[in-house]
Amino acid sequence: MENKKTFFVPGCLGTCWYGKYHYLEPFTGCEHNCTYCYGKGRSDVLNILKELKNDFDKPEIGCSQQEALRQIKAEIDADANIHTIKLSRYTDIFSKKFVDNGYSYAVLKLLAEHPQIKRIIITTKGVPNEEIMGLIRKYPQKFSYNAAVKPEAEICMENNVPPREERLNWALKAKEAGALTTIHMDPLIPGVEDKPEVVEPFIAHLKQIGLDRVMFSYLLYDYTIAKNITEQFGEQFFLTLKEKYLDDNRQILPKQSETTYYALKHEVKLESVKNITAILKKYDMQFVICGLKSSEKDDILSIKACGCNVCDGKFYA
Ligand code: SF4
Repeated sequence: MENKKTFFVPGCLGTCWYGKYHYLEPFTGCEHNCTYCYGKGRSDVLNILKELKNDFDKPEIGCSQQEALRQIKAEIDADANIHTIKLSRYTDIFSKKFVDNGYSYAVLKLLAEHPQIKRIIITTKGVPNEEIMGLIRKYPQKFSYNAAVKPEAEICMENNVPPREERLNWALKAKEAGALTTIHMDPLIPGVEDKPEVVEPFIAHLKQIGLDRVMFSYLLYDYTIAKNITEQFGEQFFLTLKEKYLDDNRQILPKQSETTYYALKHEVKLESVKNITAILKKYDMQFVICGLKSSEKDDILSIKACGCNVCDGKFYA
């Protein structure tokens, strides 16, 4: 089929990565199939999936690997502004299918070897392989490795990911290979994954194995995410969650816009941030809360007042 999509999209999220980055979506769909994935509701993703006649959890490139690699290189060569790459918004570069067939390696190799590319920011719930780790070892200054791993709680919204310990082991290898390595507790589900008795053993374990940088954030949800959470965990679970998010006088999901997200109530968030900050400090971790998801002024001031830094794009850039 003819493939007209572009692989790179300019970043648009304020100070995150200094605002001067590009997203790269090397394929469409994601086998990790997280319940809260906002990619599942985005029209740019849904349109491609429709064209591919594919489900979200069965990622496809939409053309041959060779053609995709040719186009990725051509897009970099044609635009000198493409130098800092974030993988990805709507998928995970370490989807097993593409790690196994070599495409993930080929994409990262192309980026790492391209003189114009200065930074490759991987955020993943998957795992690489030794070949990819060799690449990170060869170009450690180019890679930022971010393993999205959260504490073990009574429910899990990551539906198809490798075991937690395996993902932490690869993060440790990335750190030992010289990449800036950060654990993302992202997004925490309030009342489930942010409880001190759940968070503390996880942080103690990170510290003990030598991973000492953490970013954390809380779930934002929109209409699609709310629907997916309700379908998977039931009406009652969602209603309890909703209590933590919405003011009484605020109408639930008044519009189904792609950019309408609901954030935690200020006081609920602050209480949680205080608890997590105390634990992270106790274990002498380096940490920030995600700036992108904590951008309200009253949030930032009170979060900083309780001793937690808000990421300004520099923490894991
Ligand atoms: S890993 Fe990321 S892109 Fe993949 S399903 Fe989960 S949230 Fe979506």
